[in-house]
Formats: sequence, structure tokens, C-alpha cells
Amino acid sequence: MGKSKLEKNNEKEYQFISNLIANYIDRARKELDERWSLWKIDLEKSEVHETLGALLARQVTLATQIALSPGTWNEHIAPVLLRAMVDVYISLAWVLDDPLKRSKKFVLYGLGQNKLDIEHRKPRLKEGDEDSENAILIKALEAWANSQRYTFLTEVELGSWSGINTRQMAEEADCIDFYNYVYTPFSAATHSMWHHISRYNLQTCTNPLHGYHRIPIDPDIEPSVHYFYLAAKYLQKTFKTFDSKTELKPKSESAFDYLINQHKSESQSQGQK
Ligand SMILES: [Zn+2]
Repeated sequence: MGKSKLEKNNEKEYQFISNLIANYIDRARKELDERWSLWKIDLEKSEVHETLGALLARQVTLATQIALSPGTWNEHIAPVLLRAMVDVYISLAWVLDDPLKRSKKFVLYGLGQNKLDIEHRKPRLKEGDEDSENAILIKALEAWANSQRYTFLTEVELGSWSGINTRQMAEEADCIDFYNYVYTPFSAATHSMWHHISRYNLQTCTNPLHGYHRIPIDPDIEPSVHYFYLAAKYLQKTFKTFDSKTELKPKSESAFDYLINQHKSESQSQGQK
């Protein structure tokens, strides 16, 4: 039996999206590699390069994992992932304004959290329990902390790592708009607040005798490629800020520009049909 026109079109669309995702990921990783090789590394200031390098790589990971998972391109999940990207952006932009001091704070806070995790687990350790999952995990956490080569590691930092909240960091790093228009609205999904869940997890009951109360549901939502586009856009924004503060001039084609160009030529060919 031959394939229907609809089946052929779906297959073509699927092929187009799969290629788009694979090529996007490839370019995004190349963008990261190029920046690392252009950046002049000062080995006396490893914490700066490791913190900023890891944040930049984390942003690539978030964008590429979103790209790889069309099942997350919907209102239930995409805002949670995209808000994590805004967090990375604000941290990176804030550290870039005073790299040595702030990257140290960033590292110290992470180590403090690791230590806290160990302290929470230890009381649950019973005698003769050396091979339990908990004991093995504690050992691994301690080994990780001891493997840190930094000499400034003396105190455990509690509270927020920067000493200020995300909103203040965004203000200082000159990205308060990003905070107000993206971070805050996406927080509704991340923290499952009323203005998110009442929209996406309630449906008006059809029984007129019930006075239009709403009942809980878990609806499927059609994926929207717009969320992939947003992830790519935030990664692009992160690269641009990094480039301007570090004065790097990478030459490789931007993964975001690739996406935009592909979309343009695809809509043109759709228009010709
Ligand atoms: Zn009802």
C-alpha cells in the first residue's frame, strides 16, 4: 500500500526537524569550543575560567537538551527549563562584572551546600553500615570536596551565594528586563503557583448542577517549536554577553542564526507550494 500525501508530509516535516535539531546542537557546541580556545587562560585565576566556563557550558547543555526533547516544548515543562536558563544567564552576567571576587563566592557557596548535604546525611548513618548506599554517597561527596584544589576554601557559605537575591543580581548585571519579563512569569510554572496550575491543571466541570466548579486534569499539550527557538535565543544572548565582557570575537556561525535562516528558507519554500 502506498503512503498517503499526509503521511509523506509528516515524514518530511519530521526529517526537517530532526536535521534542524542535530545541526543546531553541533553548532552550539562548536560555539562553546571556539570561545574556550580563544579565551586567554590565566592559570593563577583558575576559579574565574572554571566558573564562567562551566556556566557557559551549562547554558549550552540546557539549550541542547531542550532541543533534543520536543516532548518538553509545551507550557507544562518548557518554562521550568527556560527559567533555569535565565538563572544561568543572570549568574554569568553578574560574575562577569567582577570575575575574581564573584567566582570565588560562587565556588564557596557550592562547596558549602555540598558540606551541608553531608551533614544532613551523617546522622542517618547507622553503625556497621559502611557499605550502605548512604555511606557510599557520603564518601563520594567528601572525596569531591577534598579534590578541590583552591586555596581560598576556608569558610562555609550559607544563605544566597551572591549575598543578594536574583532580582538584585539582575539589576546590578543590567538585565532587569530579562528578570521581569521572563524569569518572573516562568517562575509560576517552576513553583507550580496558582496562576499556572489553575490554567493548565483545572477544567470546568460539564455538569450544570455543579455550579461550574473545576476539576483536576493532566492534559497533553501539542509541542510548539517556539520553545526550542526561545532556548536558542537565550543561549545566543548568553554568548553575546560573554563575548562583550571578555572582548572575544568568535568567527563560527551562530547556532541561533542558523536556526533563523533555516526557518526563513523553510517558510519560503512552504509559501511557494
Ligand atoms: Zn462537577
